[in-house]
Amino acid sequence: MAKWVYGFGDGRAEGAAEMRDLLGGKGANLAEMSNLGLPVPPGFTITTEVCTWYYDNGRQYPADLDTQVDAALTAIGDMTGRVFGDKDNPLLVSVRSGARASMPGMMDTVLNLGLNDQTVLALEAASGDARFAYDSYRRFIQMYSDVVLGVEHHAFEEILDIFKEGKGHALDTDLSPDEWKQVIERYKALVEEELDQPFPQDPREQLWGAIGAVFGSWMNPRANTYRALYNIPANWGTAVNVQAMVFGNMGDTSATGVAFTRNPSTGENALYGEFLVNAQGEDVVAGTRTPQNITEAARIEAKSDKPSLEKVMPEAFGQFLEICNKLEQHYCDMQDLEFTIERGRLWMLQTRSGKRTAKAAMKIAVDMADEGLISHEEAILRVDPAALDQLLHPTIDPAARRDIVATGLPASPGAASGQLVFTSDEAVELAGTEQKVILARVETSPEDIHGMHASQGILTTRGGMTSHAAVVARGMGKPCVSGAGSIVIDYRKETLTAGGRTFNKGDIVTIDGGTGELLAGAVPMLQPQLSGDFAELMEWADDVRRMKIRTNADTPTDARHARDFGAEGIGLCRTEHMFFDDERIIAVREMILAETETGRRTALAKLLPMQRQDFTELFEIMHGLPVTIRLLDPPLHEFLPKTEKGIAEVASVMGVDPERLRARTHALVELNPMLGHRGCRLAITYPEVAEMQARAIFEAAVAAAKTTGEPVVPEIMVPLVSLKPEFDFVKARIDAMAEAVAQETGVTVAYQVGTMIELPRACLRAAEIAETAEFFSFGTNDLTQTAFGISRDDAASFIGDYMKKGLIDQDPFISLDPEGVGELVQIGCERGRAQRPDIKLGICGEHGGDPASIDFCESVKLDYVSCSPFRVPIARLAAAQATLKARKG
Ligand code: ADP
Ligand code: MG
Ligand code: MG
Repeated sequence: MAKWVYGFGDGRAEGAAEMRDLLGGKGANLAEMSNLGLPVPPGFTITTEVCTWYYDNGRQYPADLDTQVDAALTAIGDMTGRVFGDKDNPLLVSVRSGARASMPGMMDTVLNLGLNDQTVLALEAASGDARFAYDSYRRFIQMYSDVVLGVEHHAFEEILDIFKEGKGHALDTDLSPDEWKQVIERYKALVEEELDQPFPQDPREQLWGAIGAVFGSWMNPRANTYRALYNIPANWGTAVNVQAMVFGNMGDTSATGVAFTRNPSTGENALYGEFLVNAQGEDVVAGTRTPQNITEAARIEAKSDKPSLEKVMPEAFGQFLEICNKLEQHYCDMQDLEFTIERGRLWMLQTRSGKRTAKAAMKIAVDMADEGLISHEEAILRVDPAALDQLLHPTIDPAARRDIVATGLPASPGAASGQLVFTSDEAVELAGTEQKVILARVETSPEDIHGMHASQGILTTRGGMTSHAAVVARGMGKPCVSGAGSIVIDYRKETLTAGGRTFNKGDIVTIDGGTGELLAGAVPMLQPQLSGDFAELMEWADDVRRMKIRTNADTPTDARHARDFGAEGIGLCRTEHMFFDDERIIAVREMILAETETGRRTALAKLLPMQRQDFTELFEIMHGLPVTIRLLDPPLHEFLPKTEKGIAEVASVMGVDPERLRARTHALVELNPMLGHRGCRLAITYPEVAEMQARAIFEAAVAAAKTTGEPVVPEIMVPLVSLKPEFDFVKARIDAMAEAVAQETGVTVAYQVGTMIELPRACLRAAEIAETAEFFSFGTNDLTQTAFGISRDDAASFIGDYMKKGLIDQDPFISLDPEGVGELVQIGCERGRAQRPDIKLGICGEHGGDPASIDFCESVKLDYVSCSPFRVPIARLAAAQATLKARKG
């Protein structure tokens, strides 16, 4: 008989932390905490295999599941001295979802299950607290109806609000037992009215209803969105945890809370969390009451006048602190905990590795390595390279004037400016037109995930540091200010008001997630720096990684940024980017539109000193590090004047009739320019262009070697080669130019000539090409385009559908397709190396900064990856992780 159910409680468990795949994260950790002897209410976990079975079999359960559930329920009863469904001594349970990967807020939990008109009396008698008993019952009806029966939450809220208003109560805790009874009657009437049947009174029916709802919620749209966003496969399934209830709402000696063993925003090694007295479950994160700090230190820092847990329940606090330390030592990681105190007695309800900002991840990894809890290598593996992006985001210039409109909580660091919008749909719409938006909401819910994703930053007026907005924003690495209570958002008028000022939809605002401020207008930002923990972790990564990290830089500014971020050379300098400068473009146009070689050479002579100057500067900045310069690549029409005025301008410089120029412009139009006259094909037609560029490079190398005192070894790259003769034709021109410059200057420059491998034919014929090419740089943007036959400029309109419909997991232009394009790269490497064992191999496409693609590059043993300057630190860390993973095999 298959085992579908795993029990835990009383200091032992059938499961353990390693059984996460089977028991889900929550179930596995509840088992582990039980095994550690921590106070965990007893319960059991229905495995993720049941979920898979359920969906494979038309939403049915395996035959023997109910007997196993019954046996497990009896076991909980034995441990708690209660009986499920018994009217005198009822066992009440929570039904909780729990997937392998934590999916905050995605799945629904039902508390106080087992209550009905009879058992509520027993609960009242046993607790001696009628208010508590009816408060629990009304919560149950509300949650169960919402989650299982589909009667919306707000319908109940409305009943309660109207009732409270009628009685003049401000807080839920103000209601008397009799008043709760009246509310419950109205709740039940609502359910009956909506569903044409009464609220289920049978605990067993309730239980199976809740189990079905958890499994059902695995496929709800919110969960699907979250999984799509975080690449969680749908076939993983969720587990269901059924656990004896403990009550944080049993009066003023009871409480419920959430905590992190270290600060999830800064990484500081200090217990950090929030709690509420006389409350249950989601109250803390719902944001309806303002939670209190757990420690005195945090309370003082937050300038809160509400007492800390440390103060009000010192004993439970002391025990909690001990458990926090124990769990952190046990898991060797920062933990995110949920707990409840029932009449002074502490119960642990959840532990997991806590989500954290990149800054916190870095600090925690470095601190834990320094504390000896983890190794340097483990520390490297702890930080998600993609998340470093957060730290590489701009912050507000300290010298800037801050026009502060309101202050909330600093929920997720970084600063961002954009247009105000008040709905997620609008955020998505504007982001689609490349506009930057700040999403302002009273609070966010899982329905807002797409909008949060589309925004530069998120602002809420309600909710704490552990509110939905805060948790999700930190996960996404977006700046967030939460709980800015002095702000009033009017969704209907589409305005935001604070401190007597009103902002409309579309107004530009700035949020600072590091200070919690909302500022009017756009504010000057500072570029991030590598220092402290960041620099230290980078050093550890550098000690480990095998591949070199270069950068794609076309300008001195880019090159300097990249060096600051640790780039070890330039892997791709696109020379044409230097052509767009105002004063140069005319000479470039002159060169293109010239009808004779002499005409072209005249224009090229004007460009030569400019290019030489550019290259000299780049060589000087890179100070002896390798620099790969690609010869002119794009289709020429990209440089042509598009307006009459532009044509007239060039015509007058060239002294020709605008009409002739217009005709020549038309003649250059191509149907398929990306597959047209570009790359080395230009150098075949107009060798003098390549010659000018080669001359500029060699002369610059001579000049920079003089000023820096370091020899410069330029790597000249011929683009878009598919035939060896193409490469050889261009190489011959370059070699001749090297000779000429050596003759003229008396200095011989060492250099290499190689090619960009970006066409399938070049991958296949790599052995042949490597006879004369001294290096290969895989241009995976074009290689992806030509391997798939998908135009990268047109892909956006349909690749999204491929992802949505599950045909592909990843956009191949973002993350290298390891199978198809990957195989081409692999063939190129193998054949190139077979011909020339010491051939230098690198990658310079967009993929060079993508961690998954970097992992692939390690697998084919490239010598380096080259990426945009701001991704250099990401690449350094990702390359180190790739080395470590490859070592482990
Ligand atoms: P989520 O995955 O959304 O955090 P949980 O299953 O952890 O959902 O439940 C949310 C909250 O419900 C918990 O943090 C806890 O406060 C409360 N809760 C769950 N089970 C119990 C229980 N057995 N007794 C008391 N409170 C519970
Ligand atoms: Mg939880
Ligand atoms: Mg290309």
